[in-house]
Amino acid sequence: MAKTDIEIAQECKMKRITEIAKIAGVDEEYLEMYGKYKAKIDSSFLKDNADKENGKLILVTAITPTPAGEGKTTTSVGLGDGLRKIGKNAMIALREPSLGPVFGVKGGAAGGGYAQVVPMEDINLHFTGDFHAIGAANNLLAAMLDNHIHQGNKLGIDPKRITWKRVVDMNDRALRNVVVGLGRKADGVTREDGFDITVASEIMAILCLSNDISDLKERLSNIIVGYTYENKPVTAKDLNAQGAMAALLKDALKPNLVQTLEGTPAFIHGGPFANIAHGCNSVQATKIALKLADYTVTEAGFAADLGAEKFLDIKCRMAGLKPDAVVVVATVRALKFHGGVPKADLNNENLEALEKGLPNLLQHVNNIKEVYGLPCVVAINAFPTDTKAELDLVEAKCNELGVNVALSEVWAKGGQGGIALAKEVVSLCEEKNDFRFAYELEGSIQDKLNAIATKIYHADGVDLVGNAVKQAKQLEELGFGNLPICMAKTQYSFSDDPTKLGAPKDFRITVRNLKVSAGAGFIVALTGDVMTMPGLPKVPAAEKIDVDENGKITGLF
Ligand code: ADP
Ligand code: MG
Repeated sequence: MAKTDIEIAQECKMKRITEIAKIAGVDEEYLEMYGKYKAKIDSSFLKDNADKENGKLILVTAITPTPAGEGKTTTSVGLGDGLRKIGKNAMIALREPSLGPVFGVKGGAAGGGYAQVVPMEDINLHFTGDFHAIGAANNLLAAMLDNHIHQGNKLGIDPKRITWKRVVDMNDRALRNVVVGLGRKADGVTREDGFDITVASEIMAILCLSNDISDLKERLSNIIVGYTYENKPVTAKDLNAQGAMAALLKDALKPNLVQTLEGTPAFIHGGPFANIAHGCNSVQATKIALKLADYTVTEAGFAADLGAEKFLDIKCRMAGLKPDAVVVVATVRALKFHGGVPKADLNNENLEALEKGLPNLLQHVNNIKEVYGLPCVVAINAFPTDTKAELDLVEAKCNELGVNVALSEVWAKGGQGGIALAKEVVSLCEEKNDFRFAYELEGSIQDKLNAIATKIYHADGVDLVGNAVKQAKQLEELGFGNLPICMAKTQYSFSDDPTKLGAPKDFRITVRNLKVSAGAGFIVALTGDVMTMPGLPKVPAAEKIDVDENGKITGLF
């Protein structure tokens, strides 16, 4: 039987993190050790290396996935190892996993097979405590807000219009709706409240988008926690909370250095939701990696219509980053799914359905090339169930249409299986690059929504319904009209209907709610309900996780 991810990870003879730092080119004075195999990099590194030239930036994104996930993290890790195998100085920069999915359905997020980052148990469980710090900063603001109301409410905050929630990094549906302030007068003002999972907190998005600690503080100041009886936004600055919050986040802001199974240096830092937030690792980690490595591989959450769009239009725009190449991960399984094969039958060869599913892939590739002006390659992430005929068909069709394509076997073979992809990426990085955004910031909120919907989703247009019409007007009046848009849409379709597979035509996008994340600096457009506090399934993954008397952990995946 094939080894599980955790078995493979535990067999790895890890190098000391000081050695990995040496490989990466980080001087020891910048290292803050978290045990033998993890370290944070001090924020002064970027300042001291500001004049150093940046290496190439490679984004890994994917086609519209099946519910199983298509292997972006696995491909990112394997590509980093593949680049090293062909003698390139490469690093990877990825997100940190949340405890919610680890104990829920999805499991960990440290790659898979022979393309993983280690120590995988630590990375998946607590890691260096960043998420706890984010929770503490978030909940400090909540406590100061409720205390302000309790102490006389000088700002005139309307308890019915508080938008700031408390957070915990756990899938805990029982906390979605709670009542706080029960009890005596001294126990605070009674009101309805709720918890989100920590990765859905605006603080997470802020931490990931901040260039440095001053930028962090500025963004924290701008957070809107609710509105007054006069309809005026109340900010974290109005409550004088930003200083203490930034103090709590001082270390969480520093990128975490670890290694892949093959000893490639890897930053794992920050993990914002990919729906109500932008879904990429921290700007700091990406920027440091660009200074250290000639090739930095990074991943954006969900498919290219969401993850890559936000990476390019939000993160790259805010941080002044310019990608050099994009990898679109496709699997035979997902293509067959788009060709109409039900999930239970995805393991059977079906060339007809495979070919029918190709338009989904091609539309993502065209978006990257035509809308964003970036060089692009398809990585076919090979699964054990794929047949040779299926793999050959995808490759032949891509070649026929002039789409660059490489077979990636990193899950089964590690870096060795990523050499073909690595070579392709290296040559793409030398190609002409006309990077541009899908929309400019000037213009109305509706204009920007339209640009994303028509250019990226290939919809006929956008309809604002219900409160969204009024909200757009209010946000523009408050001066937020020129912020980028963060789309919260299903990841399972180009449209806002998860059942519309492939490359759907003749549809419109419905935006039901618009809200500002003033600290993060974007407007969130919700096309439906977004779950910001997931629940656990009937049999949570947590039931299988254990630790023995030697501290060895089992059951993670
Ligand atoms: P994503 O980043 O797109 O969500 P991951 O890389 O985390 O996807 O992979 C999702 C799951 O699929 C993981 O459990 C991983 O081990 C598994 N997986 C990824 N690639 C392969 C492959 N080629 N063969 C078998 N399993 C794979
Ligand atoms: Mg991933």
